[in-house]
Amino acid sequence: MNLEQVYKDANALLEGHFLLASGNHSARYLQSAKVLEYPSKASKLTDALAKLITDAGIEVDTVCAPALGGVLAGYELARSLDVRSIFVEKDGEGGMVLRRGFEITPGEKVIICEDIITTGGSALKAAQAIEALGGEVVAFASLANRGFCKRVGGAQEAKIECKLPADKPLFSLDDFTFEMYSPDECPLCKAGMGEAVKPGSKG
Ligand code: ZN
Repeated sequence: MNLEQVYKDANALLEGHFLLASGNHSARYLQSAKVLEYPSKASKLTDALAKLITDAGIEVDTVCAPALGGVLAGYELARSLDVRSIFVEKDGEGGMVLRRGFEITPGEKVIICEDIITTGGSALKAAQAIEALGGEVVAFASLANRGFCKRVGGAQEAKIECKLPADKPLFSLDDFTFEMYSPDECPLCKAGMGEAVKPGSKG
C-alpha cells in the first residue's frame, strides 16, 4: 500500500513549519484525523493492518488506544479484528489511565494502537497502564511509523529515540521518514519561516 499517496489524497500530508509533540520542528506533518474522516476509507486501512497482525499469528482480545490521537484508528482496528476497543487517557501526571468503566481482565491480550508511532512515548504509557492492571500487551500497531521504531517487515532499524520495548512487535502499514530539527538548529526558523505551529489540536 502507498500510504503516502493515501495521506496526500486526503490532504493529510501538510507542508510548512510545525512544532511536534516532542518539541522538535519539521517541514512536514501527518494529520491522520483527515485520513480517518471517512470511515469507509479508514476501515480499508485497518483491514490491511489487521491482516498483518493475524498473518503474524498474534492473538488479540482487545485494542487499546491512547486518547485522543489514537482513538479512531484503534476503534477501526478493533472492528477489523472483531475484538473489543478501549482507550486510555492522560492522568495529568505524565502517565495514562483507564477510565469510563473500562476494565482489564488479568491475562487479557491487548494490542496498543496509535494513528502514528513517532518515538512511541504515548503508546508505551498506554502499555504501562494496561500492564499495571494485569493485561498482557502482545504488540503495538499504527497506521504509519514515523521512522524511529522498527516495524514488522520494515527495512529500517530502530533508532535510539524509539521508546517501544524491543521484544514486542510493531505493525504499521508504512514508514514515513521526515527530517526533524531541534529548535536551536531548525533551518526553517533560521530561514525566517515564522513560529512553528502545532497543527494537531490547535486549528
Ligand atoms: Zn523551526
